[in-house]
This record gives sequence, C-alpha cells and structure tokens, in this order.
Amino acid sequence: MPVVTLPLGGRILSGATIGPGPGATMPGVSPATPTEPPLVAGGYRLSEEQVLLRDAVRTLATERIAPRAADIDRTGEFPWDVKELLASHDILALPFPAEYGGLGSDLLTVCLAIEEISRVCATSGLILAVQELGALPILLGGSVEQQARWFPGLASGKRLIAFALTEAEAGSDVGAARTRAVRDGDDYVIDGSKRFISHGSVADLVVVFAVTDPKARKSRRLSAFVVESSSPGFSVERIEHKMGMRGSPTAELAFAGLRVSATNRLGEEGDGFGLALRTLDRSRPGIAAQAVGIAQGALDVATRYARERTQFGSPIGDLQMVGAMLADMAAGTEAARQLLYKACTEIEAGAPDASRWAAMCKLVAGDTAMRVTTDAVQVLGGYGYIDEYPVERMMRDAKLTQLYEGTQQIQRLVIARSLVGRDH
Ligand SMILES: Cc1cc2nc3c(=O)[nH]c(=O)nc-3n(C[C@H](O)[C@H](O)[C@H](O)COP(=O)(O)OP(=O)(O)OC[C@H]3O[C@@H](n4cnc5c(N)ncnc54)[C@H](O)[C@@H]3O)c2cc1C
Repeated sequence: MPVVTLPLGGRILSGATIGPGPGATMPGVSPATPTEPPLVAGGYRLSEEQVLLRDAVRTLATERIAPRAADIDRTGEFPWDVKELLASHDILALPFPAEYGGLGSDLLTVCLAIEEISRVCATSGLILAVQELGALPILLGGSVEQQARWFPGLASGKRLIAFALTEAEAGSDVGAARTRAVRDGDDYVIDGSKRFISHGSVADLVVVFAVTDPKARKSRRLSAFVVESSSPGFSVERIEHKMGMRGSPTAELAFAGLRVSATNRLGEEGDGFGLALRTLDRSRPGIAAQAVGIAQGALDVATRYARERTQFGSPIGDLQMVGAMLADMAAGTEAARQLLYKACTEIEAGAPDASRWAAMCKLVAGDTAMRVTTDAVQVLGGYGYIDEYPVERMMRDAKLTQLYEGTQQIQRLVIARSLVGRDH
C-alpha cells in the first residue's frame, strides 16, 4: 500500500487510492464526483496541503466508510473499525501538537477532515469531532505535564476522550451544574451525574466539569478534571436511544465518591466555566463542518438521483421545480461552507470575536443541513423516505447539529450579545 506523506508532516492515508473504488457508491445510486469546494481568495485560501488532505480523506471516506454507514445507523453500535481506520491513518492525530505525536493541524484542516467524513457518515465524523472536543480543555487549560501525560495516547487514537458538561438540570444553562468536586488532601472527591455525553461509554478519559465553590458566581463555580473512566465510582447509567447519529453512544454518567488527584485539575479552581466556553469557541466549527458535510452528502445523492430518475418521459432534474430545489440546496451548502472556512480562519488568527464566528457558522451550517437534507428527501420522493437511500438517515443526523454544543437559540444569543453587548 502506498503511503501519502503530506507536507504537514504526517503519514496520512496510507493505502488510499485516488478515484472511486469497490463499494464506493451510496446504496442505489451510481458514483459521481462530489461538488468541489473552490479555492477562494480573500479571507482565506486553502493551502496545497489542505487540498491534498481534504481529497485524501474524501477518498478514504468514500471507499472505506460510506459502505459501513447504513449498518452503523441500523445497529446503533459504535464503529470501532472506523475508529481504528481513522487512528491508523493519523486522522485522529490532526488536532494534537506535533511534540505529542499529533499533526498540529489548524482548525480549518481539522474541519475539512470532519466535513469529508461526515459527507458519507456523520457518526464517523463525530469520532474526530469529539476527540477534538475532549482534548480542547487540556490544550487550552492544561499544563505541559498534563499534555505530555494524556496527548500521546489520544493523538495515536489508542485512547478516546469525552467532554462532560451537560447535566439533567443544566443544559443550555451550564453554570447551573450540580455535580460536586470536594477537595480532600491531594485529591478531589466527585459526586453527581452528567447527561447526554457523546462517547461517554467508550472513552478512556472524560473531562468532567464539577462545582468546586457552590457560593461563587456562576462563572467561577466550576472546575474541570480529567477523569479515567476505569476509576472506582465511575459508572455508565444508560445509553440513549436516539433519532440519528445512532452509532455514536450518548451516555448518562454517574460519579459516586470518585477520587481524582488534584494533578488532574485543569487550570485553577474556578476556571472550568471559562474553559468550557473557550472550548466551545473552537469546537462549534467542528459541528458546523459536520453539518456542511451532511448537507453536501445529501446534495450529492439528490443530484445523482435527479439525473437518473425519469418521470413524464424525462429526468426529474429537468423539471423546473426539482431543479430549483437542487439549486437552492447547492447555494445554501456552499454559503455555509464559506462561512465555516472564514470562521475557522478568524478563530485561528485569535479574533477577539471568536465566539461570534463560532456561533454564526454553527447556526448557519446546522440550519442549512436540516433544510438541505429535508429537501433531498423531497427530491427522492417516496424513495427518500425509506432506508434504501441514505437521505432519510442524513435528515435524522442533521437534526442533532441544531441541538448539541449549544442549541440554535443559544447560538443566536451569543451572536446578539456580541453585537449589542450584555448590558443593552
Ligand atoms: C446526542 C447528543 C449528544 C450530546 N453530546 C454532549 C457531550 O458530548 N457533552 C456535553 O456536555 N453535552 C452534550 N450534549 C448536550 C447538549 O449540548 C444539550 O442537549 C444542549 O446544550 C441543550 O440542552 P438541553 O437539552 O438541556 O435543552 P434546554 O437547555 O432545556 O433547552 C430546551 C429549549 O429551550 C431553549 N432555550 C434554553 N435556554 C434558552 C435561552 N436562554 N434563550 C432561548 N432559548 C433557550 C433551547 O434552545 C431549547 O429549544 C449532547 C446532546 C445530545 C442530544
């Protein structure tokens, strides 16, 4: 198998061949070239390495992940084989610093990979997105010792990490969390529970946000701890039965007298809330990338179908009302993609309004994915509603991008506050 060595320093995608291979088609449709995101001058321009990586991930996803997507959705089981595939091609290494075995990629590069994987299987795209989400608090708030301790295992993909912020009574209002961490000598003792934790049942490490000072103001009540899921007192209470993204286990976690060393605390006591928000500023673009990928995947299927399906003696794509739907889907997807790429560039450059960029791209991409996938079902007519074609799965998967890492209402809140200020 050939090894493609990229200028960004990785042995990305050994064995990936260019061009569609066996099993490269979505069920029931013939292969076609996906619409190419253009290279754009102005706010950003994809570098040669980024284009190379995007195309290599696209090939891998088309050849190796697309044929698994329907089964992952049907069984609702975490795709360990896809996790191994992403690890063995260093895709899980993208967000990690080079000194710890990662590829040190920028945000846009990570998002390109999430987008391309999600185009064929959103659950698989989430493997990279959650690995990045869980690692971000360590990247942003962890010491050099902490990064050296945890990053090599995560970058290699040997270990998985989850991000545990949400609780049953603290969803959008994360500052209302009740899980407690009480200092006891050199340790903390954690008691409480977390709800809706992606990969919570398969992760080796979980970043847990817990209250260290109940009397402090909301922004200073929480601290973040890296917890080993093998610790006594850690348990998985249940796995949710979900509408979409079904191969990604969403767990309720409970902590009963869970002892964690103070050396596992990220930053100072009280830093947790700020760390969570800074994490979301960098992780929301990953969800936007997932949404853009889902939209592109649905557009690809609908376009091919419209070329091949004949009614009234001609392809349905020639019917103006169907053509108009496809045109709106294509324009919307491209607009969401351009906003995402621009947002990544702004955030990477340290823009002071990073929160607004992150919220805007997630808002626009999530709504676009929902609209485009719904229209894709419409283009396929009755066939869109059955699982012979992937668009009904894509529609179910798209819905989640409007909900997690902050609902669309919360994104609007973030954007509006950034525009008018909290005090107005
Ligand atoms: C499949 C899945 C995976 C998830 N993965 C993770 C994970 O890995 N880690 C993690 O920590 N969390 C995770 N979450 C949690 C997710 O981020 C929350 O569900 C989300 O933030 C919303 O919280 P909630 O469900 O409690 O809804 P609520 O906060 O109760 O909101 C209910 C409704 O009220 C609206 N609303 C709430 N507050 C406001 C407001 N101020 N203004 C206007 N409208 C408002 C919301 O938009 C929503 O429509 C996941 C959720 C799901 C479903």
